[in-house]
Amino acid sequence: IRSLARPEIQALEPYRAAAQVADTVRLNANEVPWTSSADTCRRPLNRYPEIRPTRLRASLAARYGCDPAQLLVTRGSSEAIDLLIRVFCRAGLDTVLTMSPSFAMYGHYAQIQGARFVEVAACPGRDFVVTPGDLLAACDATTRIIFICSPNNPTGGLFSRDALLEVLEARADTTAVVIDEAYIEFADEPSAVELLSAFPNLIVLRTLSKALAFAGARCGVVIAAPEVIDLLDAVQAPYALATPVVESVEDALGKAALDECRRRVHEIVAERERMCSVLPGFSCITRVWPSSANFLLLEVEDPMRLIEACRRNGILLRHFGGQLDRCVRLTIGSRSDNELVLEILETLEHA
Ligand code: PMP
Repeated sequence: IRSLARPEIQALEPYRAAAQVADTVRLNANEVPWTSSADTCRRPLNRYPEIRPTRLRASLAARYGCDPAQLLVTRGSSEAIDLLIRVFCRAGLDTVLTMSPSFAMYGHYAQIQGARFVEVAACPGRDFVVTPGDLLAACDATTRIIFICSPNNPTGGLFSRDALLEVLEARADTTAVVIDEAYIEFADEPSAVELLSAFPNLIVLRTLSKALAFAGARCGVVIAAPEVIDLLDAVQAPYALATPVVESVEDALGKAALDECRRRVHEIVAERERMCSVLPGFSCITRVWPSSANFLLLEVEDPMRLIEACRRNGILLRHFGGQLDRCVRLTIGSRSDNELVLEILETLEHA
């Protein structure tokens, strides 16, 4: 897998930040010796954070079922997508492959890097299912990364384990296969992390932004072979995770906080299923796709009419255009948020 990275990244010496040694006076990093009266953190903010947060990394590795050497903590999984493309794709030469519709950031960061970007179009009539055959047929010698989002944003569908295995096997020595599991906690499906020992070309992305309710903290992880982690580590900024973030995420990983999240995820899933069964009853909604995430993709007769009616009532929905021009993505909110959406639909029904 290391040999698939850009040669200049394989050769890159990691930046050496000032050494950090416990119980020493740090006169090596141009910090000041006093803490601000506005500093409320457990670790003093006059000091740089750890270059890579060791304790947090260990807690996240325990949560995600991997070794700390297989994990890099990132500023949301958005940063992970950016780092992966920068590590594996030479501008103008290498290709990022994904399916469409999917998460727009894959194409965005490919464009920034100057990598080629190829999308395999999914068909709404087939429930947006893209088969491993479809993906493999779109691969060529330049395909360095395949992004597979499962559950997929914005369609909510899963890429099956068998399909993933087929792609991993077919591209074993040629392509990094990234499975983006941002929404996996809302699905009835195990993480692909358990496949890592068999497939060095597998890379798993997780985020704390969704089920863990920590989007504001900007924290995600890459889980991959240690060689991949080392390459990403050489490219990531030193001190990437700010001290207040490290401390709040450590708290979020405590048992009580995790138990609470698990309960809340059950509530969201129950609400998703309730909305999924009620929404097709409205005449303006022509289709609701089954979802394994915390949102539903709806096909609507007049999407702008629904979006504007919701906007007037203080609710924002997401419209994507293009292939999804007649669709609206509805995030599952609290019970009262969802009830309000149903009330608005009821009003539209009788308007
Ligand atoms: N992957 C997917 C599929 C997403 O939908 C999102 C956010 N919407 C992300 C990654 C990025 O999330 P974050 O940077 O907050 O971890």
